Amino acid sequence: MTRHAIPSLDAIRAGGKPAVARALSLIEIAHGSADLARLLDACAADPRGDVLGLTGPPGVGKSTLTNALISDARRQGRTVGVVAVDPSSRFTGGALLGDRTRLRTDPDDQGVFVRSMAARDRLGGLSDHAVAAIVLMRAVYDLVVVESVGIGQSEGDIAFVADTVLLCIQPGSGDSLQFMKAGVMELPDVVCVTKADMGEPARRAMADVAGALTLAEHAPGDWVAPVVLVSAASGAGLADLAEAVAGHRAHLAEAARLFARRAAQARHWVEDAVRVRFGLRGLAASDVDAALAREGGPFGAIARIDADLDARLARPH
Ligand code: GDP
Repeated sequence: MTRHAIPSLDAIRAGGKPAVARALSLIEIAHGSADLARLLDACAADPRGDVLGLTGPPGVGKSTLTNALISDARRQGRTVGVVAVDPSSRFTGGALLGDRTRLRTDPDDQGVFVRSMAARDRLGGLSDHAVAAIVLMRAVYDLVVVESVGIGQSEGDIAFVADTVLLCIQPGSGDSLQFMKAGVMELPDVVCVTKADMGEPARRAMADVAGALTLAEHAPGDWVAPVVLVSAASGAGLADLAEAVAGHRAHLAEAARLFARRAAQARHWVEDAVRVRFGLRGLAASDVDAALAREGGPFGAIARIDADLDARLARPH
């Protein structure tokens, strides 16, 4: 394997968009390198930004909303990284640009970085590379928006990378009925009914979702997902959305919830990576907690467990 020079996190932070772009390509081409794992663990240990995950079916208005969120954050002087997970390109190995031209950002703005990535392994889900890219961007930008198409259970994947999961629901589509099914209610931290300018169907969808949420059981101190009605096209409701997301951030800031959530996510990345490569038996034979403690981060832990299991498989019985 060719050795690639892996920059430090400080160099990436100082190097602006070209440095971030280079680091993101290294995630793809230097996969498996110990230096890359060290860089990613340094990123995981020094998060700078909030990660907002947007999920919902195609056409619900995620890209339009992402554009609005980017403008809003830039007005406040916050830098933004966007990872758009593109399910259409999972067979090509690289993200197709066409689908993502809907994100209209100023190429000269050094404070916005958009990367489209293939959802390789799971439909609408997040590949190892996407997780690594999100961790890298989280260490560089003030806000990271992860846009992923939610189809069935893969919607849950976003909960393993985002601090706050925003589920988008399209008025008049039956999404609100889907939402009422058990399981989905547990997922979002904020629910956004899009296209509020559609009027009555939007208000009905909002009432359906709010009704479904009141049926969910909550322990005291649990976060109860607020439902907001937003028109990204007209801007109506964007302030309510910002308030709902900020409310969830404040909730996470209490009682070390954010720290616990991110630690659980990191553990999940390790388990997931081991399971994908070595199956449930490989996972059962691995001590994830010990690897995390010894390596000091999830990416080193994955490398360590990979090497251990490879060595055991190679050893004659
Ligand atoms: P995505 O596939 O979830 O990313 O959805 P898009 O953001 O591409 O939006 C899908 C379609 O819905 C586009 O034609 C948008 O112009 C339209 N759309 C998005 N937001 C709104 C909105 O707030 N109001 C209305 N009326 N249409 C919207």
